[in-house]
Amino acid sequence: MTKVNLFEVAQRQLDECAKILKLDPDIHAILRVPARELKVSLPIRMDDGTIRVFQGFRVQYNDARGPTKGGIRFHPDETIDTVRALAAWMTWKCALLDLPLGGAKGGVICNPKEMSQAELERLSREYIRAIYQFIGLDKDIPAPDVYTNPQIMAWMMDEYTKITGKNQFGVITGKPLILGGSAGRNDATARGGIYTLREAAKECGIDLKKATVAVQGYGNAGYYGAYLAKSLLGCKVVAISDSKGGIFTKEGLDPEAVREHKIRTGSVINFPNTKAISNEELLELEVDILIPAALENVITKKNAPNIKAKIIAELANGPTTPEADDILYKDGVHVIPDFLCNAGGVTVSYFEMVQNLHMYYWDEKEIHQRLDKKMTAAYHSVLNTSKKYNINMRQASYILAVERVVEAMERRGWV
Ligand code: NAD
Repeated sequence: MTKVNLFEVAQRQLDECAKILKLDPDIHAILRVPARELKVSLPIRMDDGTIRVFQGFRVQYNDARGPTKGGIRFHPDETIDTVRALAAWMTWKCALLDLPLGGAKGGVICNPKEMSQAELERLSREYIRAIYQFIGLDKDIPAPDVYTNPQIMAWMMDEYTKITGKNQFGVITGKPLILGGSAGRNDATARGGIYTLREAAKECGIDLKKATVAVQGYGNAGYYGAYLAKSLLGCKVVAISDSKGGIFTKEGLDPEAVREHKIRTGSVINFPNTKAISNEELLELEVDILIPAALENVITKKNAPNIKAKIIAELANGPTTPEADDILYKDGVHVIPDFLCNAGGVTVSYFEMVQNLHMYYWDEKEIHQRLDKKMTAAYHSVLNTSKKYNINMRQASYILAVERVVEAMERRGWV
């Protein structure tokens, strides 16, 4: 399989939107590339006494609407282009949810699964030492992403406060509760997606209590996606997968029992009374709702014609290629695009910042209500735009988000 360059995908999506919007070519040129990029070398003393030099990035894509915000990934396959694409999507995501923030992303090329906790702590602190002048409450606010977690955010926040001498918890979000983390952050990404799925089902005339669901990926997004699809919406989750393969039963799965099995055995596969299926088969199952919650570029022009789901709720970033998008739209599949569907995470991260700044904390119920309000409003704005312009939901999300960023750039006098 040829590797798709994620940043090229992000640029192509923007180009399509520019065409529909008849965007001024000068503004389009500015929006096609990140505003700032920092590349750093991080020498780390490993537990065996040797020094290894890791490479890290921070990309700030556009800050017209406010300080930039975006996660940090620790991943062996990290590339600057992936970080650029994710930073671009953060820009559109924050604008779409009407958060007063721009978009950024960071990453370090490393394999956390092969590192000790002490090595990970040294790497996390070194990364902050390398980028601290670049970030801050009024500049850029990082958060966790793939293979980074609340503990890593706590080390990073601590390092930042030591260097600057300012105990500013809000400089990083996704922290542990004891250090100013927000209630409701754990399941925020999936919960936000589930709220949009509830609205999409109304639009598509699907009775969720009778609907079947397949979920690809069983980490933070996938597990909570499956759990909430069943517990909040009453759906039947019939298939689940992870990197080792998938399971299927038409009787419906208990998402918590599958999670316990995965914790015990390392995978969802071999869960009792289920049929083994591949990840490719999962995508093409006869289900009402498909939730990709693992990797990018899994729905392509090859398998898109075989997809039978009526709604695709993209919890993963970039699961659908532009060619596949066209096919799904023609086939009448209702796609809730990634930067709308998975925006619950950044929305609650933003709530975390607000609570840190005010030093006053909301309870979980309040977080859920505020999140529901934001996600539901964003879903309906996208739906109305897609109907107005007769375009798919991803293009409609782009139109709304890009229009908001451009308006901010114009009012600031940048263009
Ligand atoms: P995670 O690391 O917790 O889980 C990833 C899951 O994907 C694991 O179950 C893993 O086994 C599975 N996986 C890996 N390779 C696979 C393959 N080839 N086929 C099938 N499954 C595979 O990550 P996460 O936080 O759940 O993120 C998943 C996706 O959701 C990513 O695209 C991420 O960018 C996106 N996302 C997550 C958040 C969040 O708050 N966690 C927010 C926005 C977007």
